[in-house]
Amino acid sequence: MPTKRFNARYGRKPKTKFAKVEKQHRGKKKCPYCNKVNVKRLAAGIWECGKCDVKFAGKAYTF
Ligand SMILES: [Zn+2]
Repeated sequence: MPTKRFNARYGRKPKTKFAKVEKQHRGKKKCPYCNKVNVKRLAAGIWECGKCDVKFAGKAYTF
């Protein structure tokens, strides 16, 4: 059935996208204030720069 084949195709796409986003979660982020890659996520939506000690809100996993 063509419908079944379509479902299998679309079922794979979000997984790939999710894996990409998941990869972005790891590692440090670049601080928009001092431009140092020293920003850690404190909590969902809260980020802290280890260099200039600024805390700022962002999206849960990215700025
Ligand atoms: Zn900073």
